[in-house]
Amino acid sequence: MNLHEYQGKEILNSFGVEIQRGIVATTPAEAVEAAKKLTEETGTGWHVIKAQVHAGGRGKGGGVKLAKNLQEVEQIAGNIIGMSLVTPQTSAEGKKVHQVLIAEDVYYPGDSEPEEYYMSVLLNRGTGKNMIMYSTEGGMDIETVAEETPHLIFHEEIDPATGLMPFQARRIAFNLGLSGQAFKQMTKFVSALYKAYENSDSSLFEINPVLKTSDDKIIAVDAKVTIDDNALFRHKDYEAMRDLREENPTEVEAKAVGLNYVDLDGNVGCMVNGAGLAMATMDLIKQAGGEPANFLDVGGTADAERVEAAFKLILKDPNVKAILVNIFGGIVRCDRVAQGIVDAYKNMGTIHVPIIVRLQGTNADIAKEIIDTSGLDVHSAIEFQEAADKVQAVLA
Ligand code: GDP
Ligand code: MN
Repeated sequence: MNLHEYQGKEILNSFGVEIQRGIVATTPAEAVEAAKKLTEETGTGWHVIKAQVHAGGRGKGGGVKLAKNLQEVEQIAGNIIGMSLVTPQTSAEGKKVHQVLIAEDVYYPGDSEPEEYYMSVLLNRGTGKNMIMYSTEGGMDIETVAEETPHLIFHEEIDPATGLMPFQARRIAFNLGLSGQAFKQMTKFVSALYKAYENSDSSLFEINPVLKTSDDKIIAVDAKVTIDDNALFRHKDYEAMRDLREENPTEVEAKAVGLNYVDLDGNVGCMVNGAGLAMATMDLIKQAGGEPANFLDVGGTADAERVEAAFKLILKDPNVKAILVNIFGGIVRCDRVAQGIVDAYKNMGTIHVPIIVRLQGTNADIAKEIIDTSGLDVHSAIEFQEAADKVQAVLA
């Protein structure tokens, strides 16, 4: 689950990470109130208005703007709220902005050299350890830095059993070229950041930029946070932060009916029981010259109701040219599934794409018969290769 910047900052703050402070607003009037309150609390004269959407690169897309007085706060907030923000990380249509973060300006006017660093904490699946990735080249695309000047990106591997050791935090501050008070502040920052990552069961905390002010404060100016969905059950407060408006509507709908669905870019929809078989099926589709349009695990009970719900989800995607159903009848009987498919099909009226059904396992032959005599645009297969050939044939 991804969070908004303001939510990520709330978590950081709760673990003692210094953040650029801000207040969320959904209207220009609220933005002005927020700005006044921030001035009272922090003494800031200027404010930054930041679009809250689940996408990076907002600055480049015009979603981060500096306001030098309250009129500008009102005006800029009015412009940004409701806009479709297009950034290098969104589609061409962009993302609708429902709320903005009114934040204190932490880049002092006249500060000739604010330093911007990059820092993220994530899981290194290769080593099974956590990793802090950091660079002196913050503020900009880290991908560009990685491509053009990879020697400017540092890694610190952290054994999850021991946690971040003090010498590691010092090494990070040293590699960033810091000394004196800034060095001390950075070691504090890194330790608190790692604590936030670990205790929130996150898979990513990315802070770009981490700002060093001329008076040696170290501040998180941005926050991109991904919380591990499988750990959300023990963080009800974070689960409440979920913003469904930012998520793929088909995936949200699938979750509501208890189906595991992931939207993909291809043209062949798939309905499979079991995640492993689903992965193999996606490989099969690629081999047959197609591209999977989705991952969908219908689980153990493939009755008519569930099959219909799954068909409906798959058919929401206008790119789908064919559907491949691949079910192994171990616990569930193939003939039941076949009947479920036929019933669902008839119940839905017409389905405008061909369906290839591969049923293998208990009563596979009876299932094939049910499909073959249904009179519908459904093609049966028992062998994996046969199913692939039929997918290839309907795509040709
Ligand atoms: P992103 O573009 O989505 O990554 O959004 P960020 O939160 O990283 O903001 C983009 C850029 O806006 C930063 O790299 C800064 O250069 C600038 N920015 C952010 N906060 C402030 C601020 O308080 N004052 C000024 N002057 N610029 C800021
Ligand atoms: Mn950023």
